[in-house]
Amino acid sequence: MTMTKQLTLKEKWLQDRPFLEEIARFHEVIETILDQVPFKVEKMKNLDAAKDEFNRGIPVLKCEHVTVPIFEQACQALKALTSLADYKEVPEPFRASCSSLGKVMEQDEAFIRAVIHSLMNEDYQTLGEIIEKHQLNEGIIWFLGWTALSYVLQPHLSELQQWERQQSWNREYCPTCGALPNMAQLKRSNKGRKRHLICGCCRSQWLYKRMGCPYCKNEDPNLLRIMEINEEEDIRVDVCNSCNSYIKVYTNKGEEEAALLDWMTLHLDLLLKERGYVKMGTHLINI
Ligand SMILES: [Zn+2]
Ligand SMILES: [Zn+2]
Repeated sequence: MTMTKQLTLKEKWLQDRPFLEEIARFHEVIETILDQVPFKVEKMKNLDAAKDEFNRGIPVLKCEHVTVPIFEQACQALKALTSLADYKEVPEPFRASCSSLGKVMEQDEAFIRAVIHSLMNEDYQTLGEIIEKHQLNEGIIWFLGWTALSYVLQPHLSELQQWERQQSWNREYCPTCGALPNMAQLKRSNKGRKRHLICGCCRSQWLYKRMGCPYCKNEDPNLLRIMEINEEEDIRVDVCNSCNSYIKVYTNKGEEEAALLDWMTLHLDLLLKERGYVKMGTHLINI
């Protein structure tokens, strides 16, 4: 049911933004591959065991006292994604990288587990060493690893977020995985509109102050600006002139499944880059 709705909404977005067709086809292939991975959703244990760590600022996936059961599933999903090498919809350099990645996985059984483990624990030193050892493309490992992790995390996300909302997080990084946000949404509440940040890696959402840069924590109103963009009436851009960054904010509701996907508004990133702004945060696709 949701699938049909999502397709229709995405199709509608793409009709208005034909230049995104190629990247949309690429994402369709990814969805097709992942839908075929037969993985078992295990029940999460009581998250309250993580309460102390979480309230000290440790994201759930890194809390020692609770394990979200997605590790094995993410390894399976990552392995499946190397078959992107076989699809003509996938750009050539990317296909070549997937194919070398597939070969490394065949030769080195510990490889997939090490990649997923480092991504989940933000252990970038180990990840860097693995990548260097096998001479792989870092951006692609990052993209595929997080695509796999976020896919297997989705069945747990509403329970996780419900728990996270009961605590008070209010930090600039993701309460689930620790990444910096890549989009935001303004949502109506009985106390006016509130700004929610959205994680580009695991797709969690969390409440954050309405004014203030999530990248450098600048709160000086003279250095913060809201930019309206002619091309997209439901997206505004919150700009920070202290660190020269920006975050795209969806200001409407109802079209979240398209509007909150970073790549659906990649044209705005190009526009902002031309104006000298830097895309910060953790993104799966860097331009
Ligand atoms: Zn996250
Ligand atoms: Zn800033």
